[in-house]
Amino acid sequence: SKPVVAIVGRPNVGKSTLFNALAGEKISIVKDTPGVTRDRIYADVTWLDKEFTLIDTGGIEPDSKDVILSQMRDQAQIAIDTADVIIFITDVRQGLVDADSKVADMLRRSKKPVILTVNKVDSFEKFMPDVYEFYNLGIGDPHPVSASSRLGIGDLLDEVIAEF
Ligand code: GDP
Ligand code: MG
Repeated sequence: SKPVVAIVGRPNVGKSTLFNALAGEKISIVKDTPGVTRDRIYADVTWLDKEFTLIDTGGIEPDSKDVILSQMRDQAQIAIDTADVIIFITDVRQGLVDADSKVADMLRRSKKPVILTVNKVDSFEKFMPDVYEFYNLGIGDPHPVSASSRLGIGDLLDEVIAEF
């Protein structure tokens, strides 16, 4: 069967926007506030003759800060258990936060291939200096993207299929 690729990250970093950009269609619901239920979180994606199943692990996201970390842990664990490749998405505007580090620790211990993605890099010139701090997560090179303007999406897909 096809490889499974899961998108993991904090609420509001742009998981659903990235899912739609990678899937090439609007399936996942994008909202400014967390806590959004969506009816479909799976998509079949083809890139350069390689097929895979993409999952947005967002599901029903918490709207209270206390449960964000525990729910992120659950989502990361689901990704570790079910995915062949994990896209870990962070937000350059918010910078590196503690919850990112905790999830990165889990992902690193799993030994699954992880592609670290830094989203909302709408201008490479303006935001690249802020991308470098994500090296501190210790899970490899950060890949800058702008999910909403589709910058860096082709390069990210190249990285994903290189892991199969
Ligand atoms: P999720 O909660 O992680 O699924 O995040 P969403 O995909 O719902 O996006 C949360 C917010 O971030 C929405 O307002 C999006 O429009 C915005 N967003 C997503 N990607 C980008 C991006 O590349 N650049 C900017 N500036 N905003 C983005
Ligand atoms: Mg979402």
